[in-house]
Amino acid sequence: MGKTTGFLEYQRLSEAAEEPKKRLKHWREFVLHLTEDEARQQGARCMDCGIPFCNNACPVNNIIPDWNDLVYRNRWREALDVLHLTNNFPEFTGRICPAPCEAGCTLNINDDAVGIKSIEHAIIDRGWAEGWVEPQRATHKTGKKVAVVGSGPAGMACAQQLARAGHAVTLFEKNDRIGGLLRYGIPDFKLEKQQIDRRVAQMQDEGVTFQTSTYIGDTEAGEAYAATLNHALTIKTPKELEDEFDAVVITGGAETPRDLPLPGRELAGVHFAMDFLRQQNKVVAGDRLKDQISAAGKHVLVIGGGDTGSDCVGTSNRHGAKSVTQLELMPQPPESENKPLTWPYWPTRLRTSSSHEEGCDRDWAVTTKSFVGKNGKVEKVIAARVEWVRDDATGQMKLQEVEGSEFEIKADLVLFAMGFVSPVQKVLDAFGVERDNRGNARANTDDYRTNVDKIFAAGDVRRGQSLVVWAIREGRQAARAVDEFLMGASELPR
Ligand SMILES: Cc1cc2nc3c(=O)[nH]c(=O)nc-3n(C[C@H](O)[C@H](O)[C@H](O)COP(=O)(O)OP(=O)(O)OC[C@H]3O[C@@H](n4cnc5c(N)ncnc54)[C@H](O)[C@@H]3O)c2cc1C
Ligand code: SF4
Repeated sequence: MGKTTGFLEYQRLSEAAEEPKKRLKHWREFVLHLTEDEARQQGARCMDCGIPFCNNACPVNNIIPDWNDLVYRNRWREALDVLHLTNNFPEFTGRICPAPCEAGCTLNINDDAVGIKSIEHAIIDRGWAEGWVEPQRATHKTGKKVAVVGSGPAGMACAQQLARAGHAVTLFEKNDRIGGLLRYGIPDFKLEKQQIDRRVAQMQDEGVTFQTSTYIGDTEAGEAYAATLNHALTIKTPKELEDEFDAVVITGGAETPRDLPLPGRELAGVHFAMDFLRQQNKVVAGDRLKDQISAAGKHVLVIGGGDTGSDCVGTSNRHGAKSVTQLELMPQPPESENKPLTWPYWPTRLRTSSSHEEGCDRDWAVTTKSFVGKNGKVEKVIAARVEWVRDDATGQMKLQEVEGSEFEIKADLVLFAMGFVSPVQKVLDAFGVERDNRGNARANTDDYRTNVDKIFAAGDVRRGQSLVVWAIREGRQAARAVDEFLMGASELPR
């Protein structure tokens, strides 16, 4: 334990951030990691509980009390080594993880949790700055070849672990750049893309081969996808991969967005959030787009209250939107949780993101009924209030429209951010992989194997839309399962 009385002496400290007015003028990250002294003091707040609930609450089981203590003692390099034992990419999670570990922190019962994520952020940023993050090249090669399909956090973690175990890994990606939703979903102001680029360089040094602009699936679906692009695309069938590789891991994410097929859906100005966000990330990367969806000077309505919706809010404000409104179907959650009831689990409570702080009207318990426009362009949205009532027939609670509550919202850009329903089914069809009842690839978390010989699945494609930290966990665990499958045993961690 760092300092026995640390939790009594020091308050939790939030990371500093550039003020909204200034940060809205650019696309860069605006959160500053803690200084060394601040991080040491925050590490001193850790009580090194006998049973560290934070460790269990973290999906990659980060060994949190140990690195808190090491930071407090100024042993940063060792803290970085401990951090890397369980997490390939702490610079991603240190920036964008919602930090379920902090909900589980024992100090959170009657005080503010230890600032675990901010300490993680400080450790890895110092590690990169000092040049401590080095390639870990395998000492021997196994002669086995593995294909990983999809380069989000699950695919990257899986590929890195397998390369370190000595396998020849090729990571296939249909996009023109590596990173999955880290690259083309999450905006630069939350995660600058050089964070991905330097990991890609490290992985190349460790022997991973990257093949971007390569679609894996049947030829017809690949050609249809190619028609939507302005760059060349290579198409490879699952059969080609199976012939060439000893194992294939599908980490293609859950890319089918939830739609709202309501009257007026066809109007110009009604878009999926991902189309809007992807385009902006491409522009920040230096690409030129012909018809970028712009929020400049518009009344923007974001439908859906999660991370994706919040990223649309931040992006719209940076474009210079006239107004931004965000609707959520569910009722407004309480400002703070009832900790004795919720600890150490992730509580439902009102969450205000940095994008919300930059300017946004939020409304809850609202359903959308139709989109109305003129000359083919959306101008307003008809919405209504909803409430939870008990269904007499089934006894279950259901959402019901409040009679006479209909209202209009002015909107010339509408963005759907209601989540993702499943992976793209055509890709799973092409592999012949069975689905669970939600349309995800069916595979368990013991061996990550699908019904098809030597085909594995991990990340959002297997568990449904989730979080970066869960994708990293699944990528790591699937790598171990593949290593065991190929070699009969594995020394990779689970
Ligand atoms: C806008 C947005 C914001 C988010 N913000 C956060 C956040 O702040 N914190 C957080 O923890 N999580 C966040 N998430 C969720 C998180 O990004 C995902 O859970 C995570 O990226 C899933 O990782 P993955 O590797 O399984 O899949 P993905 O990141 O989706 O990557 C899958 C990759 O596979 C590729 N692919 C798919 N099919 C094929 C094919 N047939 N051939 C070749 N390549 C293929 C795709 O192009 C993609 O690059 C956010 C999600 C979105 C959409
Ligand atoms: S990865 Fe997420 S859950 Fe794990 S320690 Fe970091 S912030 Fe906490």
